Amino acid sequence: MPARGDLTIEGRVLAPSARNAGDCRRATIRIAAGVIAEVAPPRGGDMVFGDDCLIAPGFIDLHAHCREDPSGTQTHKEDFASAGAAAIAGGVVALADMPNNPEPPSTPERYAAKRRLADRAPVDVVLFGLAETAPFRDDIPYKLFLSERPACSEAELAELFRAFAGTWLAVHAEDPAVLAERRGAATHEERRPREAEIAAVAKLLAALRAEPRLHLHICHVSAGECVPMLRAAKREGLPVSAEACLHHLVFDAETFPPALRAYRNVNPPLRTKADREALLEALREGVIDALATDHAPHTPAEKERGASGFPGLDAYGAFAAGLLGPLAPARFLDATSGFAAGFMRRFTGETFGAIAPGAVGSLVVLAPRPSGVRKQSYTTKCGWSPYAGCTFPGEVRTTIVRGVPAYRR
Ligand SMILES: [Zn+2]
Repeated sequence: MPARGDLTIEGRVLAPSARNAGDCRRATIRIAAGVIAEVAPPRGGDMVFGDDCLIAPGFIDLHAHCREDPSGTQTHKEDFASAGAAAIAGGVVALADMPNNPEPPSTPERYAAKRRLADRAPVDVVLFGLAETAPFRDDIPYKLFLSERPACSEAELAELFRAFAGTWLAVHAEDPAVLAERRGAATHEERRPREAEIAAVAKLLAALRAEPRLHLHICHVSAGECVPMLRAAKREGLPVSAEACLHHLVFDAETFPPALRAYRNVNPPLRTKADREALLEALREGVIDALATDHAPHTPAEKERGASGFPGLDAYGAFAAGLLGPLAPARFLDATSGFAAGFMRRFTGETFGAIAPGAVGSLVVLAPRPSGVRKQSYTTKCGWSPYAGCTFPGEVRTTIVRGVPAYRR
């Protein structure tokens, strides 16, 4: 559990009502015991930032793999402390941790044991429970790895949704039937084709139409074809949301660094420039609700053996800062913290994602100076980043977690 501090901070505050970043007013934010007590006209503070900087609610990542569980068998690559440090370097003040551990949180006992480990993180952490056949507690979010299950029909998915009625269910959407057909293909990309994701999203939305009593969240959308399906489902009023991940917005199969070619496996795979553009447009429109990392801190040796996924927490803020402009302030705030704040409220009871009295005093300060993820500055334990060598248009100047300055550049 992060410590709670007292702090006053003055600078320009990024407000959802601003037409653009230049339109934001200065204020002094007073945080007492980790909670915002007052937002007042500027009168100085413990930290004062120039007009080039913007203060925003700290970022929230709905999708990270911190790798630590009671077995302790994967802490060579990451643990809650090191993932939390990487989050802070990326301006992320709260994250949701995924349940695909060697000892998965799939029973009340295992979930509680993992919870005790997560409480050591320097940021706020919500733990997903592993969705198997039925919920084991009613106050936690669940993650369904559809790609890891036996092939199933829309009717079987609807039956599963009935069992999970009332929950918040995030899904890794690749259809196991399509993956099974392509098992023998030559490359990772051919074994995990876009058709697998498109078929899965279509089936999930059809099942949700039949059984709409849960909240369905589609993880890491990568194929542009999913965007019109999600738009239509939202227009119908179905309880569905979606996220896009950093790596699917930054890279496509052509632009991934050639020197890291052996490390390029990720599920779903990197797609095309047209997909990247469709995802950014969907994020701008709000069809895709949130920007997430799918932080997957495998070591270089594991990557060389084919492990899928990239570390992303360190890079979140530098990339996100560049979305201000392409995304209007209100959409930027929603994509980086506002949408996820609804999730945090539901599972912690606290107000994140707002700069207002009563909200958690976790903030990020962004500066317009170009920045990158430097090798010497990785805080993830896995020791590499696909973003090393990328230059982003902004940087995280400071991250404040519950009133305590946790990172300064
Ligand atoms: Zn993941």
